This record gives sequence, structure tokens and C-alpha cells, in this order.
Amino acid sequence: MHRHQKGNVPSPEELVARVTDLFSDACYEEIREIMVEQAKLLEAQHTEGILAFTKWAQSFERILVRKPGKRFHVDAWFASGVAADLGTVVPLSRTLIPFYLGEWAYFLPPQPRLKGNGSRLIYGISFPGSDVLNDVHLLQYPWLYHEATHHLLDRVDPQDFEPVRMALATVLRKERGRTPSSSPEVRSIVTDRLNRYERFWSPDIAIDNWTIEIVADVISLWTCGPAFLGAFRDEMENAGNRPFEAHETHPPFSLRAALLIEVGEVLGWDEYLRSLRHVVRQWKHERPEASAHNDYAAMTGGDLPTVVLKTALTLCRNLQLPRCTMESIEGLRQWIAIPQSADSAFQLIVGSWLKEHDQPDTFASWETSSLELLQRELTR
Ligand SMILES: [Zn+2]
Repeated sequence: MHRHQKGNVPSPEELVARVTDLFSDACYEEIREIMVEQAKLLEAQHTEGILAFTKWAQSFERILVRKPGKRFHVDAWFASGVAADLGTVVPLSRTLIPFYLGEWAYFLPPQPRLKGNGSRLIYGISFPGSDVLNDVHLLQYPWLYHEATHHLLDRVDPQDFEPVRMALATVLRKERGRTPSSSPEVRSIVTDRLNRYERFWSPDIAIDNWTIEIVADVISLWTCGPAFLGAFRDEMENAGNRPFEAHETHPPFSLRAALLIEVGEVLGWDEYLRSLRHVVRQWKHERPEASAHNDYAAMTGGDLPTVVLKTALTLCRNLQLPRCTMESIEGLRQWIAIPQSADSAFQLIVGSWLKEHDQPDTFASWETSSLELLQRELTR
């Protein structure tokens, strides 16, 4: 029995060969080095470690783009550009690679944590659509800033979230200190609600939570300005069937929108907030009962959201994140006249928004030509 099991366990050399093959494309050079190095650390006697590594390789084989197509290179360029923008003070990983898993997401692909590999992990950004140039919709790309911000927030000092932690503790202390209701049903509803409140708002970086989502929205607005407002509104319209629903990982869209409007006013984007305001008003009009529902009000009300916004803006300043201003938008007006080489991810992402805003009729052909040009330049 034991011998038979042993026969299914690859040798460390076989694993090195498998990993080398998996990451054979030139674009994975850095990752290949990391993984080969890790595979070499495995010892033939350590069956458990080898099996864990094999499992990891299998999961990567399922999701990795093995033979990167035209879009992959474009997205890798975008990802590294956005990472550079966000990494002024806290550098982002150089192994932030594109995956195509159906929707926007930041994730840490499953991987072995061996001794000594410390920070050398592979991080993924999932882009919507598949690895074909036609699936790139530049008006959605401000979401890349949001996803890359998740990576940034993984790396910031957890102390930066102390104001949120303190405000949360105050709310919980006060609410839990109230005289309990004599009805067991009411008591159980209140207890459950407070537990959820704590879990949703705790700025624990290791798990998805409302605080982190809102901070990521604010940072995207700070760095992309009205381009993020546009991408957010489009997403809201797509996901608009349940704007008041509270999920563990993401705050309700109605709350996110209301907070973006609040920060947007502070950052001087008043005139670009109109359509977002319109959608929020419409939601409330269509579902007056949902927005006034006890649970919704309890989960989203109070001062905590404002503390989260302030914390987010402080982070933008402390991390010296580049801020999109009216001047940066003006600076792009000339550039969008004709499709031409892009100097930065920011230029192409925010420039796309401006092109669509100023010249909607020519946007589609401009977008196609801009992407083809970029792709040719990247593979030349
Ligand atoms: Zn997010």
C-alpha cells in the first residue's frame, strides 16, 4: 500500500520539469524562477510537501493562461502601470499577473508557502472576458485601480486602519451596553445584527470586508477621478437589481454610491456626479421600503462610514498616491484627438473616459485603434 502510494508521488526533479513547462512562456520568466527555486527546495522523502506542491501546480494549470494571447500582454502592461502608480511609498509586487476568470478580482492563487519564499508570492488580477483583444473595454479599466488597491492594502501598515477599529469598537460597546430586550426574538435579532456589523466593518486586511471595499473605491476615485465614477455607474447599472442588499464581502451598492458621491464632492468632481446621484435617487424611489428597512439602516448608518472615508483620504495622502485632477483631465484633451502611443496606463484609461465623454461617436474606433497600436508596440 505504502509502496503503491509512493509510486504516484513525483520526484522533485519531475516537479521542477513540470513547473518549468507550466511557466515556459517568456512573460512568466520571473515567476518561473520563483517556482523552480521552490520546487528545488523539496526533498524526495517529504511526500506531504511534494503532494501539496503537485496540488498547487494542478490548480495553476487550470487557471493560468498558458500561451498568452494579444490581450494578455496589453493587460500585463496595464497591471504593471497601475501597480507603479499605486506603489509610490509601498511597492507593489512585480508578479501581479493577468488571469481570465470571468470578472474583476484581485486574488492570491493557491501556492505553497515554503520556508524562505516569504514575499515571493504570485498575485493575480482577474480581468473580465477572455484573452482576446476584442474583450478589452477600456471604460471598465478604472476597476483595475480598485483591484490593484486590494493588493496595496494587503501591504500597508495595519495601524493605518486604527481610526476605523476604534470607531467600530465604540459603536459595538455602546450597542452591546444597551439594556437587552425582554423578548428573546428581539435579543437574538439584535445580537445577530451586531455580530454581522462587526464582521462586515472590521478592517481586517486578510478577509474581504466593507471597510476595505470602500477604501478601494475611494482610492480609485482619487487616482482616476470621473473615469472611475463612470465605470462604477456602469457596474451599478449591471448589478442594480439588489442595491440595498448587505453581503459579507461587499457593501450594498447604494451605500458605496452614496459614499462615492460624498468623496466626489470633496475632491471637486461635483459636475460628474449627476448620473450617479440620479441612479441612487431612482433606487430609493423604486424601493422606498428597502432603503428604510431596519436592517439596512442599522448596517450602513451612523458615523462609521464617514470615519472610513476619512481614513481612506488620509491613506491617499500618506501613500502619496497620484491624484487625478481637473488639470490632469485637461492635459489629456490634446492627446485623445487621434489614437497614438500611450505613455502610461493612466493616460489610456482616463483618456478613454474623456474620449467617450467628449466624442462618443468616434470612441469605438479610437479604442480599437489605440489597443491595436499598444499591442503592436508591446510585441515589437
Ligand atoms: Zn473590491
